[in-house]
Amino acid sequence: MSKFPTKYIFVTGGVTSSLGKGIISASLGKLLTARGYSVTIQKLDPYINVDPGTMNPYEHGECYVTDDGAETDLDLGHYERFLNNSTSQANNVTTGRIYQTVIQKERKGDYLGKTVQIIPHITDEIKRRIQILGNTGKYDFVITEIGGTVGDIEALPYIEAVRQLKWELENSALFIHLTLVPYLAAAGELKTKPTQHSVKTLLEAGIQPDILVCRTEHPLGSEIKKKVARFCNVERDAVIESMDVSSIYEVPLLMQKEGLDKVVLRKLGIIDNTEVKLEQWCNFLEGLQNPKKEITIGLIGKYVQLQDAYKSISEAIIHAGVTNSCKVKVNWINAEEISNKNVTDKLAGLKGVLVAPGFGDRGMEGKITAIKHIRENNIPFLGICLGMQSAVIEYARNVLGYKDANSVEANKETSFPVIDLMKDQKSVTKKGGTMRLGAYECQLTKGSKSYNSYQNTEISERHRHRFEFNNKYKSEFEKSGMIFSGLNSKNNLVEIVEIPTHPWFVGVQFHPEYKSTVANPHPLFCGFIDACINNK
Ligand code: GLN
Repeated sequence: MSKFPTKYIFVTGGVTSSLGKGIISASLGKLLTARGYSVTIQKLDPYINVDPGTMNPYEHGECYVTDDGAETDLDLGHYERFLNNSTSQANNVTTGRIYQTVIQKERKGDYLGKTVQIIPHITDEIKRRIQILGNTGKYDFVITEIGGTVGDIEALPYIEAVRQLKWELENSALFIHLTLVPYLAAAGELKTKPTQHSVKTLLEAGIQPDILVCRTEHPLGSEIKKKVARFCNVERDAVIESMDVSSIYEVPLLMQKEGLDKVVLRKLGIIDNTEVKLEQWCNFLEGLQNPKKEITIGLIGKYVQLQDAYKSISEAIIHAGVTNSCKVKVNWINAEEISNKNVTDKLAGLKGVLVAPGFGDRGMEGKITAIKHIRENNIPFLGICLGMQSAVIEYARNVLGYKDANSVEANKETSFPVIDLMKDQKSVTKKGGTMRLGAYECQLTKGSKSYNSYQNTEISERHRHRFEFNNKYKSEFEKSGMIFSGLNSKNNLVEIVEIPTHPWFVGVQFHPEYKSTVANPHPLFCGFIDACINNK
């Protein structure tokens, strides 16, 4: 139960995108939870897609999957990693979803006789979605991050909805606006004009920000802060400097130093003299900044030019590195560029290799070629989803001798469909939200590498796939040395494959990366990094 009626904090962005609204929201959330409040963070995305599940990672970065099977924005991953509590479908709202609901209601006749309009119907639906989390009575604070930049046409209904909410919620709502204060090298000066213009745009929409968080490469200094405060109608201590830092995990401490949490509490009328408990976070940061050793591992995927495509994997590697007192450098390798000829060179010097998830046949042969080299040369291996499926195909081809073994996803005509479409996927024709999604239980075999990592026989992990190991071939694989150390007992689905004679060869059908947090680095990633460190 929340301590008081839920307070709503709206976070908008101006000047440019990519200023780190997600990290600022997560950092504020962290500071508030460190004071003992319950907090959840929500993202409103202005695009028309119902969810990012159908978007190419180059468009949108990683698609983050929640326990309840929602395909969501990657910022939700930051929220979970910082706050260590799970999010759900309610934490991500898109324009597509809003319109879908309103149009469905219109067809049902819910608005009979009325003209359905952006105001009030779309804005009302936005307001309803914003308050779903608060209405559970579980949260002291709901932080709502509005995607995009103020002034964008597509974000207008969201801005209007939160403007209305601010008045309806009276003293229980607050606006934080994130801007950029650029440094002009030629003039040797920081410039506040873009911030002033951006606040002006907000004011035109009827919103006066209460707090400004100014992203900058150089310290703002008190003169600049004073100037921003004066021109933007905010209090001097509500101008928060957000300096560029080398790790996102430094940002909560930076925000604490700038007093962001204190200003938020004061402006919401909350008297709070409690101590901020950030000891665990500081220990993590200390470990991150002072590693005892360093290794390089490889990450093989299709989207290596955009590292946001594998955001949760990169962060899980960082968490596991800290657990092992080790800085883990990641060498990103494009699966499409791997061939029999160059595989030895491409993987030279790597202490371990992670083969990433993916869809479609592009890059799959490169992954399979790499896995053969990894298996034969005893290099620690973690295969995730398509990475696991590629490991099964490689084993079928090169150990069982099924020369054209494949996944039906890549070759419908294969004589050995060792990875096949799941039974309940066969009738699926629509693309959006129709995969096997979200958390499912899995039972582990005692003594396996995965069991040793989890130290538990019962686990739950999140999924996002249509294809699965074909149980028809199970006994042949087992006879030749591959084990199935993780199974879903309800439908007998293979969730984990291992080669016990290999130093560390684990492939998982699920996505462990989604559940790694600063407070709870993921056991499989920790086990994998430990094996990489010990790989001689
Ligand atoms: N394309 C594969 C499937 O649908 C793997 C999915 C993934 O890697 N997330 O089963």
